[in-house]
Amino acid sequence: MTPPLHITPIKSWLPYDSRPLVVSGPCSAETEKQVRETALALAKIPEVKVFRAGIWKPRTRPSAFEGVGKKGLKWLQKVKQDTGLLLTVEVASPTHVQDALEHDIDILWIGARTVVNPFSIQEIGEALKGHDIPLMIKNPLNPDLHTWTGAIERFNQLGIKKMVAVHRGFSFFNRSPYRNAPMWEIPIELMCMYPKMPMLSDPSHICGNRELILPTAQKAMDLEMTGLMIETHYRPEEALTDKRQQITPAQLEKMLKSLVIRKETGSPAFKTKLEGLRSEIDKLDEELIDILARRMSVVEEIGRYKKENRITILQLKRWNKIIRDRIEHGIRLGLNREFVIRLLEAIHDETIQKQMDVMNRKT
Ligand code: PEP
Ligand code: MN
Repeated sequence: MTPPLHITPIKSWLPYDSRPLVVSGPCSAETEKQVRETALALAKIPEVKVFRAGIWKPRTRPSAFEGVGKKGLKWLQKVKQDTGLLLTVEVASPTHVQDALEHDIDILWIGARTVVNPFSIQEIGEALKGHDIPLMIKNPLNPDLHTWTGAIERFNQLGIKKMVAVHRGFSFFNRSPYRNAPMWEIPIELMCMYPKMPMLSDPSHICGNRELILPTAQKAMDLEMTGLMIETHYRPEEALTDKRQQITPAQLEKMLKSLVIRKETGSPAFKTKLEGLRSEIDKLDEELIDILARRMSVVEEIGRYKKENRITILQLKRWNKIIRDRIEHGIRLGLNREFVIRLLEAIHDETIQKQMDVMNRKT
């Protein structure tokens, strides 16, 4: 059972008129000029409500640029005074929390490397006690929903109620055009578990390159996510971190203009038609399950028969023929080949398991 979360509605602390709510700014604060130039340009884009900048950067190698540290917080304070944008930084320790709170940071975010560690979550959560500051929680590096929801629940139990989840993709070792595979099913499951939890997508970290940012942002909008976190830099080619995935504020503005924001609900006629189609799907799903159950009872009968006649369970020749015939049939009906294979493999695994159960049965 999912424990209920106590979430303060985002619009009560971060008003925005329509999706997407945008958080933007450089991967890292590098110089006062870079922070200022980037923020002044972003402040002119109506969707941008929050300015982000990494002050302490979690880097894989110790010789890499690890952020400017506390002095960058002063540059951010100035941005807030001059533009009115809200500020957010990543925190990974109670000291970061304290420094951020002392410099008027409005929202804190927990990075993908920190969210995996319950000790860090506990310490950061305790450091936030008594401060009503909102928290954005990125997904962990590994594709595990429960690590993500575990951190969210822990923060919530420590009294943090202004929360936002951020989908930044997952480490994935197969070849993929993305730096971090989006695995959309994971944030979707989180959104189903916690319908009141706003979800931002972070196409910069998902894609790792500029080219895929637009289609990824579009997909996030089509999945009804609340907003986007996108890295921007006044001179992306000079960025000290995540150079390939940052765009200029002007490019961000252009990209936001070309996003198609589809409505979450349609006209009454649309709803009636949709309901009709959905009830058709419900019926078909029920039939699918009935057919599968019937198939499995025939499988069981075959299992019993093989047992009586001392015949092996797996008969490769027959299986290969089944695969070939069914794939052809599926393709003729317009189904995707890989999908048919995955489906048949799942059915076959269950078939083998069922027959093994029959073989092992005493009677
Ligand atoms: C970042 O936002 O710059 C960052 C370090 O993100 P993540 O934790 O998603 O890697
Ligand atoms: Mn980054």
